Amino acid sequence: MQNLQMVDLKRQYHKIKSEIDTAVLNVIESTAFIAGPDVNYFATELATYLGVKHVIPCGNGTDALQIALMALGLKPGDEVITPSFTYIATVEVVALLRLTPVFVDVDADTFTMNIDSVKNAITSNTKAIIPVHIYGQCVNMEPLLALAAEHNIPVIEDNAQAIGGTYTFSDGRTAKTGSMGRIGCTSFFPSKNLGGYGDGGAIFTNDSELAVTLKMIANHGQKIRYYHELVGCNSRLDTIQAAILRIKLRHLDEYCDARRKAADYYDNAFKNNSKLTIPYRASYSTHVFHQYTLQLHGLDRDAISQKLADRKIPSMIYYPVPCHKQDMLKDYAVADTNLPVTTTLQSCVLSLPIHTELTEEELEYITSNLLDIINNNN
Ligand SMILES: *Cc1c(COP(=O)(O)O)cnc(C)c1O
Repeated sequence: MQNLQMVDLKRQYHKIKSEIDTAVLNVIESTAFIAGPDVNYFATELATYLGVKHVIPCGNGTDALQIALMALGLKPGDEVITPSFTYIATVEVVALLRLTPVFVDVDADTFTMNIDSVKNAITSNTKAIIPVHIYGQCVNMEPLLALAAEHNIPVIEDNAQAIGGTYTFSDGRTAKTGSMGRIGCTSFFPSKNLGGYGDGGAIFTNDSELAVTLKMIANHGQKIRYYHELVGCNSRLDTIQAAILRIKLRHLDEYCDARRKAADYYDNAFKNNSKLTIPYRASYSTHVFHQYTLQLHGLDRDAISQKLADRKIPSMIYYPVPCHKQDMLKDYAVADTNLPVTTTLQSCVLSLPIHTELTEEELEYITSNLLDIINNNN
């Protein structure tokens, strides 16, 4: 088995190469590198896909989160509730804006924020809640939205890992992940489920007034060129990326299906092994498997990862250090926050290769080797 990767972008590209190449060359020929027509077309097409009124493209997923917090007009010291079990970007922007991160624990099955912990963490200073749809599993939004509404706290969805997912409310109504909070944020980093060929991100909202503010902040605080009403930043989606993303958006559902199919294969191979817990699939949402993440029990994770590597099978720990333990946040003195589930998960999770191009032969190779390593202690 050669060249297994966590994400195989090359094979995916080759399937749509002629379309992509034409689109990229058209942008170059037009020289409309910044704010070319593809950027607006993409924003409109993504808004339709998500069922939201406004999509504001920006430079990357981290900027999207930062701009969202800026648009809510939060002041230094305002509290923002987030999980610690997430990629650092979710929390970094909170610290960057001198807001106060308040960490909550996650559920051991879904890896997503525990709603009771959020309830207990709310104070009169809580000014935003950031649920993270980690690994492609949507947070249980219905109770979270109800809780947030009760306290009048805006919800910003970090949808960087779950674009394409669908949530079903108890009355049967469905919504795309990222479309349910006051603001939704995503990333088009190449390895994400809807990835460009470079950096990119977007912000979603149904609030038209807020959309104007978000757009202004992403563009130096101006509505009219050279008249700057707000302190903003410079965060744009390149036209070339937008042209690529327009094509890839048409394949997003099929890409999510391909990831789920690979996850099904893994699940079947691992489901009866007492040393492994397969990812949970919540009944209230589809899972889009940005990552396929196992929990290992009674096993030496580093040794297993090394043995997999010896057989040319990559694996990754997302993420080895939870956010609240990062040196970056030492001024907040949050390292001792009691997050038992986060601590346990961080010591036992292991992610396997998952992407849109995995073949049955590759899945068989990965699963049989991992089982051989675990069961026979090879
Ligand atoms: C990737 C990611 C981000 C940041 O996106 P960038 O485009 O890399 O800035 C934020 N949050 C989560 C959960 C992510 O996975």
